[in-house]
Amino acid sequence: MHSAKPFKPSTLRAKSAETLLSQSSREVRHILERALSGREVTREDGETLFRAASSDLPAIVRAADVVREERVGDRASFVIVRNINFTNVCYMGCRFCGFAKRKEDPDAVWYSMEEVAHRAQVAWDRGATEVCIQGGLHPDLPPTYYRDLLFAVKRQVPRMHVHAFSPFEIWFGAHKRKMSTREFLLELKEAGLGSMPGTAAEILDVEVRRKLTRNKLTTEAWIETIRAAHSIGLRSTSTIMFGHIDGPSHWAAHIDLIRSIQKETGGFTEFVPLSFVYAESPLYVDRAIPGVRPGATQEENFKMHAVARLMLAGWIDNIQVSWVKLGAQMAAEMLHAGVNDLGGTLMDESISRSAGADFGEELTPAEMVKLIHHAGRTPVRRSTLYDSLEEFSDHEPVDIGPLKPRPHDPIKFLRHKYVAAG
Ligand code: SF4
Repeated sequence: MHSAKPFKPSTLRAKSAETLLSQSSREVRHILERALSGREVTREDGETLFRAASSDLPAIVRAADVVREERVGDRASFVIVRNINFTNVCYMGCRFCGFAKRKEDPDAVWYSMEEVAHRAQVAWDRGATEVCIQGGLHPDLPPTYYRDLLFAVKRQVPRMHVHAFSPFEIWFGAHKRKMSTREFLLELKEAGLGSMPGTAAEILDVEVRRKLTRNKLTTEAWIETIRAAHSIGLRSTSTIMFGHIDGPSHWAAHIDLIRSIQKETGGFTEFVPLSFVYAESPLYVDRAIPGVRPGATQEENFKMHAVARLMLAGWIDNIQVSWVKLGAQMAAEMLHAGVNDLGGTLMDESISRSAGADFGEELTPAEMVKLIHHAGRTPVRRSTLYDSLEEFSDHEPVDIGPLKPRPHDPIKFLRHKYVAAG
């Protein structure tokens, strides 16, 4: 059930962690005190925090904020990036997916290599340091398609970081190319692949994945692909998609598994909770699986970011909020719940939009900086691999405006505030 009263971690800033901990239940206080003293939050502890009562939420969120400050300080980052979803044709039939089309559908797209390279060039001219390239698993992709796409982009913009191809696409491409995952990844790295999105993880639980994705890419195959990438020096992000047919035990186990891979490889750059967007997802619209929920509650969204911060402390210290899933206002609140990164400016977001998200396709660098200032933190433009590129403590980014006209102002709530204050 969705909570009616908005919870705002920003309003807790005046209260000390000790005060909030003293008001929480004994079990939760015990776990948070241990987390604050640097002890690892176990999978069982994580599950307890996820199951904790609403009255414990302020203490959990505040503890995550304290750990965030200890681990990464007051800077909050974003990256200038363009999403390029080169095709939406896909026959894998993941039940939650609102993005995939069939070849004959009128809104099916498959961009030419020249179009992808051109989009990368436009992004570069707008200050992007990264293109994030992902697509459906189009059955007609030639075996060398992924490699050739990298050649095309790197030929056009040699210095662009190419963050591309989910583990699902890597699995698909390796089969097409008749190569082992490792050989295929080596070929892509050689062709210019800079890093990989750790998407298609959904929930790394055999039963849940079987229901969601028909188990085409198994949990084992996801892990094997990520391990293979990390083993050849390709770093990746890590994600969780939650709020559908899953629950606290899956969430804690998923984060614990991500942590154990990180202990072994050190290859994850960040962890990104992706709140399930249900509005136009077939999983929800068609009630494809009994008991599917209309996304995570507000409380679960806060808990997910906060508990991830607590469980991953010292292993993955970049916790990103997806403004596409939650909106700019909620993303700014998450900066008080353990988050230190607002992700990418995106320019052309289409996957969440296809599932019914209504938060827009782009946040400009100037808007990112405003959001971070609003949260009382220091904005930093970063690279894909978290090198600081520019700090905005004493100046603003050039306001280049959005790539396309936007129906809504994504940071309207802030502009009202400024007008009222001015
Ligand atoms: S989630 Fe990805 S792999 Fe699954 S159907 Fe959608 S586009 Fe295809």
